Amino acid sequence: MVNERLQNSDVGVPPLFIVTVNPEIAIQSIIDNPFREILQSSSINTADGVGISWAVKHLYNKSVDRITGSDSLGKICEVCAGLDQSVFFYGAAPGVAAKAADILVKRIPGLHVAGVYSPETPDSNYESLPSSTQEELLSASVVFVALGAPSQEKWISENMHKLSRCKLIIGIGGSFDFIAGSKKRAPIFYQKFGLEWVYRLYKEPARWRRMLRLPLFALNILLLKASKTTIPIPETINLVDKDGA
Ligand code: UDP
Repeated sequence: MVNERLQNSDVGVPPLFIVTVNPEIAIQSIIDNPFREILQSSSINTADGVGISWAVKHLYNKSVDRITGSDSLGKICEVCAGLDQSVFFYGAAPGVAAKAADILVKRIPGLHVAGVYSPETPDSNYESLPSSTQEELLSASVVFVALGAPSQEKWISENMHKLSRCKLIIGIGGSFDFIAGSKKRAPIFYQKFGLEWVYRLYKEPARWRRMLRLPLFALNILLLKASKTTIPIPETINLVDKDGA
């Protein structure tokens, strides 16, 4: 879908809007109606977080692979470089997105970064940005937004229709920090065994309050399963499992 959309330059086609969903996001969507509507209207929701894969397996007996924001950042940049499409890095602390851009440009031959910008507040609208940033944003095919959930998805939903040349827009959380080295991503062992959240909690203990949502999410899924309530998979959702079925 990403390849196809990036090769389509027809004017008026809306950008692909990708959300990488984890259990914290799922719980937020229960208590935050506008955010839930955003998740229901996005183009692709991926299973970021082992909790989502577990829930899909538990409820629908389907195995979905994890697709995280951090992995998507590098892969989408590679596709962009191959197709000569420019990218814009929006969000993160001052200097972090610029450093991540420098590193990725060195790592991925042909990658063109149209611009980077760290807004003062996560709710800065497109109109309030410096005019040079507005122009750079307007010229980019792909916009990566790192404001943390749900701010990044709300920013995207508010502003993506103003970006007339944008073909793909995605919220990527702390991914610029991982590339720039301002935060360390969990080692492969943790990622492989679905323990990335444990590592992040160890590195950033202030996340404990957010992490309380994990058992709440698990409880929701277990109760749903125990109640034998069948929640049909909406026709608009294409649950692709590991064998492509
Ligand atoms: N961030 C930001 N403005 C804010 C809050 C967060 O730019 O008001 C950035 C933060 O610097 C980080 C990114 O958003 O680069 C993701 O933050 P977090 O670790 O909360 O996201 P997660 O990876 O958990 O989705």
